[in-house]
Amino acid sequence: MTCKLTEIFGIDVFNEATMIERLPKKTYVALKKTIENGEDLDPAVAEVVANAMKDWAIERGATHYTHWFQPMTGITAEKHDSFISPTSDGKVIMEFSGKELIKGEPDASSFPSGGLRATFEARGYTAWDTTSPAFLREDAAGVTLCIPTAFCSYTGEALDKKTPLLRSMEALSVQAVRILKLFGHKEVSSVSCSVGPEQEYFLVDKAKYLKREDLIFAGRTLFGAMPPKGQEMEDHYFGSLKERIAAFMKELNEECWKLGILAKTQHNEVAPAQHELAPIYATANIATDHNQLIMECMKKVANRHGLTCLLHEKPFAGVNGSGKHDNWSMVTNTGKNLLDPGKTPHENVQFLLFLAAVLKAVDNHADLLRLSASVPGNDHRLGANEAPPAIISVFLGEQLADVLTQLIETGEAKSSKQGGKMNVGVHTVPEFRKDATDRNRTSPFAFTGNKFEFRMVGSSMSIAEPNTVLNTIVADVLSDMADELEKTDNFDLAVHDLIKKTVTEHQRIVFNGNGYSDEWVKEAERRGLPNIKSMVEAIPSLVTDKSVALFTKHKVYSATELHSRAEINYEAYSKTINIEAKTMIDMTNKLFVPAVIKFVTKLAESINSVKAAVPGADVSVQESLLKDTSVLLATAKTAVGALQSYVKEAADLEGAEQAVYFKDVVFPAMAELRAPIDVLETLVEKELWPVPTYGDLLFEI
Ligand code: ADP
Ligand code: MG
Repeated sequence: MTCKLTEIFGIDVFNEATMIERLPKKTYVALKKTIENGEDLDPAVAEVVANAMKDWAIERGATHYTHWFQPMTGITAEKHDSFISPTSDGKVIMEFSGKELIKGEPDASSFPSGGLRATFEARGYTAWDTTSPAFLREDAAGVTLCIPTAFCSYTGEALDKKTPLLRSMEALSVQAVRILKLFGHKEVSSVSCSVGPEQEYFLVDKAKYLKREDLIFAGRTLFGAMPPKGQEMEDHYFGSLKERIAAFMKELNEECWKLGILAKTQHNEVAPAQHELAPIYATANIATDHNQLIMECMKKVANRHGLTCLLHEKPFAGVNGSGKHDNWSMVTNTGKNLLDPGKTPHENVQFLLFLAAVLKAVDNHADLLRLSASVPGNDHRLGANEAPPAIISVFLGEQLADVLTQLIETGEAKSSKQGGKMNVGVHTVPEFRKDATDRNRTSPFAFTGNKFEFRMVGSSMSIAEPNTVLNTIVADVLSDMADELEKTDNFDLAVHDLIKKTVTEHQRIVFNGNGYSDEWVKEAERRGLPNIKSMVEAIPSLVTDKSVALFTKHKVYSATELHSRAEINYEAYSKTINIEAKTMIDMTNKLFVPAVIKFVTKLAESINSVKAAVPGADVSVQESLLKDTSVLLATAKTAVGALQSYVKEAADLEGAEQAVYFKDVVFPAMAELRAPIDVLETLVEKELWPVPTYGDLLFEI
């Protein structure tokens, strides 16, 4: 495999090696300058690159190219054009110009724009993102050359998730470089953020999936009683892989490797049928593209194996949901990780300053981080006893917490706790040095050695937004810090005071205890930390004066873009709940009610025929079952009626008001309907139940 892996790795990517091989030296150097320093791209260079890209793609079987972009739906979009161009003699040649590489104009008026564009002003542009390499994708349509692009409106507003991310990366770089210059690092010209997203997902049998409308339309089960066995035996986590799953993972890895994605870790997760894949980290922009590709590949490969991949945050109630741990750090162009504390963090002033900056950023803008992890599906997860709470706090671990305490209490940190040796008590197992700090799985924002791990992000989400927020809020603090430090005559003293002041002022955000406990909710309230329980309540944070000032200062979002994004969020929430409610109504009326009627009829017939056969026979079991089921059926019928009328009401509202109505009225009514149906599932004869159960879906793969 190792040999094969190195052979196939990146073969579908127009990467560094391919560029060196295929581009004239001058073109390559010019393109690199654009990629690395953001220098303007000469159209003549684009022409040469386009031609080389086309030749490479055609040799690999490509017939089409597409500008691949990430509209605000959270998934990717593309419009395919073929390379063919007619010639005067009635034949065709394969062509691809620099212009076609640089700019596309999809009539993309149907993508969410939050009022930024009316449908009659449909112009939208895709623009080549030179920092993320083009790649080939093969599916039933053949091989397509995919060019990662940014997507914006005629008036220049970003209509996608990538443009703000790229802007935030620039903002972070500018401010971090200012700080590093003060520390004497003249050699550093840029700082990038590296991101490693761990992706959780479920796999279910495709044939069973196709029997559940809720999974098809909503991506999650809207009904379903718990099976006798859930995840309580904890026998799935890191358990050995079933053959079918192993075959899926093998193929998924190969697909990823071909696309140059460093798929590295794979294992079973806590819930039955739940798994995880983690790639090795990359620059935020590329990590975002790769994560989108990983999700696409998961779906595609699952299909080939008769499986369906569920990326929803909470496909099954009562069973662990799926998240996406966003590991984030800052790295200089000279390769130094700014969040690496070294062995003695108390002496590492530069590290402590960056650490303090992150603490302050997270404390100042917890609401924005919370929002950046908000999709309707994640509301089922955040704050439940499985995922990080909806309250943002930072876990630092024993070693760093101790350094900060020393700083706050005595004004000086004199020592760093060390990990010591680990001895498991068996001579044949070698001793090793353990980490200075244990882990905390309950923290939403945890320092894990040389990076922060933002654990709130939902499994179906693009990681663009969380990282856009992180980059911007940290850039903002660094910018203030640089303003202050650039003025001082005594840098050493000023930096020391600034670290002490910052960590003292923001120590409330540090929490090393159990984030799942009720005490923490109370303690957090006492500390004044926001506890934003739902997506709808999180959306307003996007358009506060504070948020507009922050994002416009660093040119990440304009005020117009922020307002449009708030609108898009409300709309996305409403649409999701609307689909879910309608699916529930449909399933109840067409599947569950008829099935229960069949069952009660069967019971009634049984009572009658038993009584006829043996007058005076005991039919109390059938009778009580008949009574219970009938009562539940009536309850369900009332609930479905109520839900129907609420959905109708909701249709007349719009924007924030509509979203609030969906959350406060429609959503609870869905729970009212689910409850009796789930009980009925446990009473009605298995053969009559019209959809596969949790047991069927989770354990029979
Ligand atoms: P754990 O969460 O168990 O510490 P890993 O060390 O495997 O797991 O890392 C999880 C993810 O974090 C991986 O995608 C990994 O590449 C990524 N990662 C590791 N170091 C960094 C870093 N400095 N910056 C960003 N991501 C990182
Ligand atoms: Mg992790």
